[in-house]
Amino acid sequence: MASFNLLLLPGDGIGVEVMGEVQKLVSFLDRQGVAKFAVEKDLVGGAAYDAHGVAITDAAMKTALASDAVLFGAVGGPKWDKVPYQHRPEAGLLRLRKDLGLFANLRPAICYPALADASSLKREIVEGLDIVIVRELTGGVYFGEPKEIVTLENGDKRAVDTQIYTTPEIERIARVAFELARKRGNKVASAEKRNVMRSGVLWNEVVTRVHKDEYPDVKLEHVLADNCAMQLVRNPKQYDVLVMDNLFGDVLSDIAAMLTGSLGMLPSASLGAEDKATGKRKALYEPVHGSAPDIAGKGLANPLAMIGSLGMALRYSFGLGDAADALDKAIAAVLASGGRTKDIAATGQNALGTIEMGDAVLKEFQKALG
Ligand code: NAD
Repeated sequence: MASFNLLLLPGDGIGVEVMGEVQKLVSFLDRQGVAKFAVEKDLVGGAAYDAHGVAITDAAMKTALASDAVLFGAVGGPKWDKVPYQHRPEAGLLRLRKDLGLFANLRPAICYPALADASSLKREIVEGLDIVIVRELTGGVYFGEPKEIVTLENGDKRAVDTQIYTTPEIERIARVAFELARKRGNKVASAEKRNVMRSGVLWNEVVTRVHKDEYPDVKLEHVLADNCAMQLVRNPKQYDVLVMDNLFGDVLSDIAAMLTGSLGMLPSASLGAEDKATGKRKALYEPVHGSAPDIAGKGLANPLAMIGSLGMALRYSFGLGDAADALDKAIAAVLASGGRTKDIAATGQNALGTIEMGDAVLKEFQKALG
């Protein structure tokens, strides 16, 4: 039986509550003999700062580096608003991303039929939507140098951010997108602005070459990023996998996210480079939402984004596609039978708490795994 090292970093606020529900599912998989999980748990964010004076300890980082996957809850909250900048809760997440070399961010946008009315778009536009945005996470305009504000001789100021991409950076993110498409609908749309940006010209050239040389069986289309924004709200179901740089990915993945209705429903994965010897990638899975201080400790948080993040880990880090399918089916079944946490319930509808929602998914998961 396959065995995996799994590190759980619940973090702060509702991170702790939603991770509790994931732990139940992992224990169940272990008991059922689907795979053996050696689970470790550690602190991150404000909780780590309170205990150790840093947002993540070197020991926790070492465990993360040795893990097959890291599941991350959420960090932050008003309690830590005044801690020194380098120890702020988010610093824990940034260190994980940097030290694990997580350059590819995958954000699925799935619209369950039962929730189609929660979207701001019409039901027929979003019902059954299932797309993934692959965003380059470690390069581009957020990191390029020079990055500065300078004062000119006449007293005016000039701000500069620099968009930089090299061929290998584009090749590796393109490969992630094509590989992913092969496991899904076999279609990739690559978004850039080659009409006005040199980095867009290179992006387009490199994606085209990688496609021709390595993935000719996958359908590729190029789309200008501004047009892509329009298409995402006009007819999002035309897409399967979308690949783009850090900046466009930041913006367009938020548009895609909102098509599905609620922050409490959105999982994500961040992947590193493939180890040539083992074929494995460093990986971190986390819900898109934060620590939600307004509802923390009340048992109201929707655990489905965190549970969906476990589903992505099963699929992409553990090769347990059948278990991942069963978990997706379990979530859809709970929603179809009317199970809702407060954030996705209609006004006046009875809502489940975090634990009740977790239990409902576990029950359906047990049935789906049969
Ligand atoms: P947030 O995502 O925590 O919450 C935004 C709103 O959505 C709140 O009203 C919250 O109650 C609701 N919400 C979020 N997740 C939910 C869930 N699972 N179930 C039900 N409702 C949910 O964003 P925020 O309020 O802007 O930030 C709060 C804290 O989280 C801040 O300290 C911020 O820095 C941090 N944050 C952390 C991460 C992360 O850890 N990756 C991401 C975003 C924000």
